[in-house]
Amino acid sequence: MRFTKALVLIFAVLFVFSASGFAAEKPVRWRLAMTWGPTLQPFVGAVENMAAAVEKMSGGSFTIRVDASNKHKAPFGVFDMVKMGQYDMGHSASYYWKGKDLSFLPLTSMPFGLTGSETYAWYYFGGGLDLSNKAYNKHNMYSFPGGNTGVQMGGWFRKEINSLDDLQGLKMRIPGFAGEVLANIGLTVTNIAPGELYTSLERGTIDALEWVGPGMDINMGFHKIAPYYYTGWHEPGSEMQFLVNKKKFEQLSDKNKEILRVAMRVAAYDMYAENYAMSADAWDQMIATNPDIKVMTFPEPVMAAMKKSNDELLVNMKAKNALFKEIVESQEKFQTKARKWTEMSEYSYVRDNLVK
Ligand code: CA
Repeated sequence: MRFTKALVLIFAVLFVFSASGFAAEKPVRWRLAMTWGPTLQPFVGAVENMAAAVEKMSGGSFTIRVDASNKHKAPFGVFDMVKMGQYDMGHSASYYWKGKDLSFLPLTSMPFGLTGSETYAWYYFGGGLDLSNKAYNKHNMYSFPGGNTGVQMGGWFRKEINSLDDLQGLKMRIPGFAGEVLANIGLTVTNIAPGELYTSLERGTIDALEWVGPGMDINMGFHKIAPYYYTGWHEPGSEMQFLVNKKKFEQLSDKNKEILRVAMRVAAYDMYAENYAMSADAWDQMIATNPDIKVMTFPEPVMAAMKKSNDELLVNMKAKNALFKEIVESQEKFQTKARKWTEMSEYSYVRDNLVK
């Protein structure tokens, strides 16, 4: 009798412990594949911080090993590796998958589209996250915001651009949809591996290129050979992405799901903030060492031609893919409202308080 009582007590204690979350979590060991090489900051740091946060918050029971592209050798294979479960998750950019499905393109950034802050407002509070998962669930994955570059610069040009004529036959490295927009108005568009960009620009194989912004451009050295630095239009707020295998995510405990979600969200915001700080520092340094750099804005007729080309291409693309149309129209609708507020708030404040 006394033995039975003791046994009941032991079971009761065990039950209370497990129900209150004291039971040890089953160890979860995940692997993440990045599109990036091991030194591309601030991308790599943000991903590693995310993994470190998951490990700490889970008390070491949930760990994520981060592999850069030199390890897995497939920078643009991240989509397929996560989809097939060879990797549990990845870090990349959605627009790389536009060849698989056009609806992935606007989930990074669109020319003349949302800024970084507007992008986060759309993703978290404007229906963006649901639309993103509508596209990725079809491929056995979830996609979460993975950090933003902020407004990207229009690129480094060897010569000043005064008219549309100056752009005819101009050879520029500008990948993706923005490249199509420019090809439509007379440029010769190429894509060149990052490691060969500096030499190509120096030797005149190309006349211009775009990369990101001062923070990520400075180490590439373009400012030493192409002094005209044009302001942005084509990637106003490029959002990177965390890709997660859907089945693997569903197998996580509720606690680990929440730990992962929070760690990814913090990492994304951190990367956005770090990009901002890196660009402020890098620009300060660039202009001090190379005072001949000129920050330029494309002349109005050039901007108008780019916008027209963009709008024409969009009409065709919307007709081809219903989900692409749904996502782009959701962004357009959101942008109309959000931009009024951006103009009344940050834009007006900055315009009225310019640095002397
Ligand atoms: Ca870019």
